[in-house]
Amino acid sequence: MTYVRIRFRFTEMTFEAGQNFVERNIGIFKYYYETNNGWDGIDEFFLNMPHDAFKNDKPPEDRFPWVEGTPGPVDDSNVQVDAQNDTVNDSQIDAQTNNQNDGQSNAQDQMPPSPDRLILFDTEGNLVFDSDPGEGDISIPNSAMENAIPVVVNDMEVGKLISYNSAGVLRREQIGFVQDIFWTLLVSTVVSVLVVVFVSIFLTRRILKPVNSLADASLKIAHGDYTQRVDVPDNSELGEMANAFNAMIVELERQNTLRRRTTSDVAHELRTPLSVLQIELESLEDGLTEPTTETIQGLQREVAYLNHLVEDLRILALAESGDMVLSPVKLNPAALATEMAIRVRHAALDKNITIEVHEPDHEITLVADELRLSQIFINLLGNAIQYTPENGRIDVTMYEDGDDVVSIVEDTGMGIPTDDLPHVFERLYRTSQARTRTNGGSGLGLSIVKGLVNLHHGHIWAESEEGKGSRFIFRLPKEWKEPSAGTDMVE
Ligand code: ADP
Repeated sequence: MTYVRIRFRFTEMTFEAGQNFVERNIGIFKYYYETNNGWDGIDEFFLNMPHDAFKNDKPPEDRFPWVEGTPGPVDDSNVQVDAQNDTVNDSQIDAQTNNQNDGQSNAQDQMPPSPDRLILFDTEGNLVFDSDPGEGDISIPNSAMENAIPVVVNDMEVGKLISYNSAGVLRREQIGFVQDIFWTLLVSTVVSVLVVVFVSIFLTRRILKPVNSLADASLKIAHGDYTQRVDVPDNSELGEMANAFNAMIVELERQNTLRRRTTSDVAHELRTPLSVLQIELESLEDGLTEPTTETIQGLQREVAYLNHLVEDLRILALAESGDMVLSPVKLNPAALATEMAIRVRHAALDKNITIEVHEPDHEITLVADELRLSQIFINLLGNAIQYTPENGRIDVTMYEDGDDVVSIVEDTGMGIPTDDLPHVFERLYRTSQARTRTNGGSGLGLSIVKGLVNLHHGHIWAESEEGKGSRFIFRLPKEWKEPSAGTDMVE
């Protein structure tokens, strides 16, 4: 395409230049015809013409002051006249020297090369003059003859002047130039294609290798082998992808371990109260235990615990799957926290624990699901009461921070050991102090809290100093955002 376009434009340009050339030089022919009353001797006339004569825009009289009626060789006196007129130049001297050395008989050898091949026909269509006969036979198509310009002398047409380029024909060296371009383009295209092919093969191999290892690793992971890691040494996008992939495997492995642990932990949690129930019921059946009020209350406690555990598991599963239906309402979180503090006051009073909700200076509102936010406060307050010894205190504070509302539930309890702190939000995780069932709960409370906070596009974390107390801080956006299913739920 580039070649076709270049050739087309080049022919167009040479055509225009050719027409120009003919127009600019037709005056010479008119002049000759006028001075000689015919075309005889025109070849010799041009033989004596300096190289640059065709390019000169001056009228013919000024260009050829040495031509006086009859054309002939340029002699010294002519050169002198030119020198006086300041019009002598190197090419003129060259032309003269050439002419003198080579003689004038062979026009083909001596005609100075013209920028275009000028051809003059007489009125009968016979060839009268050819500026470059050495270029071979004239090959101007008949159809192009309409571009010939008539040479008119005294209102009479005495000939027709045309040039190769004005006829739309390219000259030998012009064809050579165009062919040069063709070959250059062909060679550069072939070289480019080869380079592209080799570079593509090289790059494809480089890209495919890690992609293949990613595909292999994915398949193995799909079959449960989480030991797979992809090795991509460089920092390219592929390297980043491999790093992300490796991080994903680590997370998958962690989730898988967690899932397995949860199943066995849940089974364990269920087994203990069920075993107690079974033993109690068997001894009642065998008459070993009297069905006293205390015995029945003990059985009810186990059933209540089981109920609580099953309900917690249900809520956790809902929060994790993103299937939990939330009803967002505009609410005052400080008022809600006060309400929840009142709800747990009996448990707090039993241990003489003071709960204080510090109302902010101005009313804070946010859009959240009231039931779930209540549950977050209940779980945090419940834990604070559970893990705070008698006569302790619990403080609930709240403030606005940009687009978020930050709530803090702080107690003066036993605190959480530094090693346990990163794990307290994991399912069924309990610190060693909390392991005894009489003291601890199911180990699902904080997982549920985290799940609910995440559903609200919030963030929760814990700070603690062992023996001094714990702080649970959570941040919720004031504006409502639809929960997205399966987002970074609960660990
Ligand atoms: P649990 O039902 O055992 O309370 P959670 O998920 O609510 O389960 O809490 C997980 C663990 O985090 C608890 O077992 C306890 O060890 C620790 N924990 C939670 N809240 C507090 C707190 N306020 N003070 C000290 N430890 C706490």
